[in-house]
Amino acid sequence: MPNLANIEHNPPTFDNGIGLYLHVPFCQTKCPYCDFNTYSGIEDQIPGYVRALEAEMRGWGSLLNRPPVRTIFLGGGTPSYLPAEYIRDILAVIKESFKLERPAEITMECNPGDVTPENAAMWLAAGINRISMGVQSFDDGLLALLGRRHTALEAKQAFNALREAGFQNQSIDLIYGLPYQSVEQWSDTLKQTAELEPDHISLYGLQIEQGTPLAVDVEAGKYPVPDDDLAADMYEEAQRKLAVSGFEQYEISNWAKEGFESRHNLIYWMNEPYLGVGPGAHSWLVGQRFANLKSPRRYATVVGSNYELVGADPVATMHAPAGPVEQVDITTPAVDITETMMMGMRLNKGVSYKRFVKRFGVGLDIVFPKEISRLLDLELIEVTDDAVRLSERGRLLGNEVFAEFIGEE
Ligand code: SF4
Repeated sequence: MPNLANIEHNPPTFDNGIGLYLHVPFCQTKCPYCDFNTYSGIEDQIPGYVRALEAEMRGWGSLLNRPPVRTIFLGGGTPSYLPAEYIRDILAVIKESFKLERPAEITMECNPGDVTPENAAMWLAAGINRISMGVQSFDDGLLALLGRRHTALEAKQAFNALREAGFQNQSIDLIYGLPYQSVEQWSDTLKQTAELEPDHISLYGLQIEQGTPLAVDVEAGKYPVPDDDLAADMYEEAQRKLAVSGFEQYEISNWAKEGFESRHNLIYWMNEPYLGVGPGAHSWLVGQRFANLKSPRRYATVVGSNYELVGADPVATMHAPAGPVEQVDITTPAVDITETMMMGMRLNKGVSYKRFVKRFGVGLDIVFPKEISRLLDLELIEVTDDAVRLSERGRLLGNEVFAEFIGEE
């Protein structure tokens, strides 16, 4: 393990623009496998939440003097479940509070059941220009097992309706490694996905998260424990099939048509600055990593009241009990290097030597000589002129590679 105590630390500034993430903690129903900070049956809290979210964005905009924003991502939860008028109002407040780059990528996560011609028109008019649709599978039996509210046909109809409405950048999310799912079923879902001609595809291997209803069912023997080898076969099937269909893999879990990589997620993977607003949202800004209080009700109460926006340190100013920020982590050079490696190695292009020196004042091969040599021997990484990156084999064993780059002080 490298010693990172004496590394220069130049956390990124936000002069080149930040990513803005908005967390929407509402879903019509809670899927049994989901452990995100999202809730069903609290729709009465939506108006208070939107007021608080707008107040939080105005607060940051004023404290940071309208920082430039490159990308916006409305995630959750289910942002499309919010009445479309709220989406319009929220986007208007963003435009007031931040300097929006043109063209900024503005993504909204969407469930198929929320797509109507009226909603689509209002989302477009509000400025949403990228949709990320939670399809998960094109097998109705598996959709039912996942507790999803849509059928395969409804997902296709929603996707096509958004295309017709004018959305030219659409991503589809799929999950693999599901109980009872065969490679053939998965392959068929990939085929049907490719036939829809999305611009981007994200694939997630099912994780059984502690405390979820699915974890309880697996523990009780109602469903089999997921088979990692089978999931690895599905991943390789996706790599083959999506390449043939014209998608380029650019990250461990993401594929895109040329020019349609997610600009917002690239900010995370390149460890560049972002601001998260809304309950439980995380940020990496002004050299600090921090997180908002998680409960939607507390968030709305705290941020909805008049908090004072004074102070030299914007994160301290926004700290609870006066503001939404609940937890601030000390970002040492070791943390920043570890994050840079763990996130950057997820990208097919890997971590650039040049960018690394620029950020830390020392070469990647100086900080990690033993680690790089060991991973090269194991054929888990490759070294190019410009970068260190995962090999084909390494992509299947990513966690082993990432563990090598966890630093200590
Ligand atoms: S729709 Fe998405 S965010 Fe909401 S409960 Fe299901 S998986 Fe979780």
